[in-house]
Amino acid sequence: MNVLIVLAHPEPFSFNAALKNTAVETLRQAGHSVEVSDLYAMGWQAALSADDFRGERADASYLDLSREQEHAFASGSFAAQVQAEQDKLSNADLLIFQFPLWWFSMPGILKGWVDRVFARGFAYSTGRKYASGHFHGKKAMLCITTGTASTLYEPNGIDGDLHHILWPIHNGMLAYTGFTVLPPYAAWMPARVSEQERMAYLKGYASHLGRLDSLEALYFHPWEDYDDTQRLKPGVVARSGVQWNPRAEQSRLDAASHFTPGQR
Ligand code: FAD
Repeated sequence: MNVLIVLAHPEPFSFNAALKNTAVETLRQAGHSVEVSDLYAMGWQAALSADDFRGERADASYLDLSREQEHAFASGSFAAQVQAEQDKLSNADLLIFQFPLWWFSMPGILKGWVDRVFARGFAYSTGRKYASGHFHGKKAMLCITTGTASTLYEPNGIDGDLHHILWPIHNGMLAYTGFTVLPPYAAWMPARVSEQERMAYLKGYASHLGRLDSLEALYFHPWEDYDDTQRLKPGVVARSGVQWNPRAEQSRLDAASHFTPGQR
């Protein structure tokens, strides 16, 4: 399998970088081919702008980004930085986003990668979304770190259900473009736990990656559950993406690492 890891952290010795290194090592040992886009190291430009388009524009007098993306895709005239990432993504069977949770979301540099790389024409187009999305057949997964404990991200936690926080990424970016979305891996507040617990996170992540084939994908309703207005049909209970639960993930991690988590 070809794996593309997109890393969004400015510090080469961060815990996010350590998780990325764990993934590279684990996946290569398992026989997979791994490519890494280290966005800060690459000097990735986050802002989608007219600079993304080389050559003649579809309309030079007014910047319609969707139209220009579609035109650049059709004419092969994306800027080199965008084209290179699209080529990596085309080649990937599994996409992993590695990032610290910043303001309940991904860092801006990674959002900018999505804005520019998931371009209209390449990543989506009229009538091509979800099951018919351009990336149907590929898998995607998030590996995140947080500043606070897992309990805060449970459905009754003060920061809110992590599923809701990740919904714009899981659903709006990944499922929307056709990916099968694997359950995320979270290393909770790595800066505030012991070295032993951090090592357990790395071990837990290696184990998560070792189970890639058996991980149950997040659930998203199939087309037939929706009516003509693209709303769930009467009687269909909304349950997209609600299987994953941080406490179960924490229990698995604790079981894997044999440590007793303290009060966080
Ligand atoms: P680091 O601080 O890089 O690492 C933690 C520790 O791990 C360090 O001591 C490091 O030396 C050590 N380490 C590195 N490599 C290894 C290794 N191989 N083995 C063992 N230890 C190692 N948090 C939230 O929960 N929600 C938010 O909305 C949120 N918003 C934020 C917004 C901003 C702008 C910022 C800056 C932070 C925010 N945070 C938030 C906190 C942020 O999520 C955490 O600081 C981050 O996830 C921690 O991960 P890190 O990789 O930066 O950790």
